[in-house]
Amino acid sequence: MTTATRLPTRNATRPAANWRTSAACQGVDLDTLFSDANRTQERIQGICRGCPVRLTCLRDALNYEADSYMRWGVVGGLTTVQRRALMCEDLLGNRPDLRQARELASPAWASRMRPLQYRGLTPAQMAVELRGHRVLASPVTVRLAVWWAGGKGGIVDRRGPGDTRQLWELVRDGSREVVDRLRQLGVGTRDVAAYLLVSEDALRRAITAWRAQDAVEVAA
Ligand code: SF4
Repeated sequence: MTTATRLPTRNATRPAANWRTSAACQGVDLDTLFSDANRTQERIQGICRGCPVRLTCLRDALNYEADSYMRWGVVGGLTTVQRRALMCEDLLGNRPDLRQARELASPAWASRMRPLQYRGLTPAQMAVELRGHRVLASPVTVRLAVWWAGGKGGIVDRRGPGDTRQLWELVRDGSREVVDRLRQLGVGTRDVAAYLLVSEDALRRAITAWRAQDAVEVAA
């Protein structure tokens, strides 16, 4: 594994202006680049996987979107939802190792990463398993690697195959602390839902349940 490469902070130095001359997406029209259609986004993500300036592109996008607005489409290999989630990680003080995530998401690691995903392991559990491959990775880095490899590494987890709770119930039972922290940091419902990789409806139902629970406790 290579030297740690973390997400930029909001005050990070902006990359050199000419990095775009090495972009693998040169020649791709803007409508395609900023499409929200799944198949088009998958195609762009395939281009990003082989892009030599992927990390620089992602840093640039995160810097821009932290100060401005989120753009549609894939940038730096990540969809809008994935970038929203990364910004939440950043606000929460989590620092995924981008270079390590890229390595774990590469075809060279697919034969070791995919079986872990197929077993339904959480990013934290996958990080433990990876130690058997002599890799020390944080759960947030593993989650990022799963995203970049085309999977979904949510933070809302089931307790096992027999856990039949609906998604909103999983949020209600396991995510209140992180939701409260993000909302205190000023993150809106849409972005918190993106971070959890659940629908806004699922998050709202969980919030409603917490409010009802709080009201009962106050009245008691
Ligand atoms: S990472 Fe993707 S969007 Fe960014 S420059 Fe490379 S190909 Fe283009």
